[in-house]
Amino acid sequence: MDTASLSGKELAAAINADTKQRAAAAGTAPRLALVVANDDPASAWYVNSLRKAAERLGIACDRIDLGADASAEQIRAELSARSADAAVDAIMLQTPLPAGVVLDDVSSAIVATKDVDGVSPLSLGLLASGLPGFVPATSEAVVELLKHHEIPLRGRHVAVVGRSNIVGKPLAQLLLAADATVTVCHSRTADLAAITSGAEIVVAAAGRAGLLTGKHIADGAIVIDVGTNESPDGGIVGDVDAASVTGRAAALSPVPGGVGPVTTALLMRHVVTAAEQSR
Ligand code: NDP
Repeated sequence: MDTASLSGKELAAAINADTKQRAAAAGTAPRLALVVANDDPASAWYVNSLRKAAERLGIACDRIDLGADASAEQIRAELSARSADAAVDAIMLQTPLPAGVVLDDVSSAIVATKDVDGVSPLSLGLLASGLPGFVPATSEAVVELLKHHEIPLRGRHVAVVGRSNIVGKPLAQLLLAADATVTVCHSRTADLAAITSGAEIVVAAAGRAGLLTGKHIADGAIVIDVGTNESPDGGIVGDVDAASVTGRAAALSPVPGGVGPVTTALLMRHVVTAAEQSR
């Protein structure tokens, strides 16, 4: 079987074209505050790529560096100050956080109207209740990528591998809202292959290179790879062993070039939406 590649580049370009127009129409450039409290090279790379994306789209982006030993109190104080600052439309808290600081403990300091990556307990609760709010961009990107490639979700069995608050759990909520039947797997799942190989769509969001191989995937299944893992040559690889899945799956999203560009595009769209709603 030929395995189609579910690229996210075309979809990201279409979203970005619309975002750029909306940002220009906003008058004053929409402003994103990126709060960083780590010295992690992968995070620095991602923050840099977000800043470049923002610049290309006419979005102002401030990086606020609190240092890798910032306390939960300092991070909360910064997020509260930016939440109260009328010049800031959108706030993102970059992970990883300093040792001992729990995302859920600090993210509640981001006001929901500026929480463009939907990480605060309030935003996640709104999503779980089916109420409007910002949705974590990576989860939304998975659903939008499937829609773009005309892959229906209604009534289909989707296995999600990963249950984090910023990817797996919100994704499960979005899939349920799209009428899929969802199984969420995690590191304590007893027999991962038995579950994923019974699903029509598999989403890998575990952060483990090569976790899913051919034996995890049913013939003709659709596979979305959210994972971004550093490869020995300095590039990035997903959670899916593409070589062993190719020829078996009907379609697979590439890493890089699949979920990643759509995630960034949706984040930037959220920034402009936040600006439009606050003015
Ligand atoms: P986390 O580390 O927070 O969560 C990973 C999840 O995977 C956990 O629920 C964990 O289970 C589960 N898991 C780990 N190992 C296994 C295993 N062997 N079998 C089954 N489940 C396992 O990661 P994130 O959710 O933040 O991110 C997941 C991946 O997505 C990462 O690679 C990250 O880089 C990538 N990512 C990509 C983005 C993009 O735009 N493309 C954006 C954001 C993230 P447990 O809960 O039991 O520990």
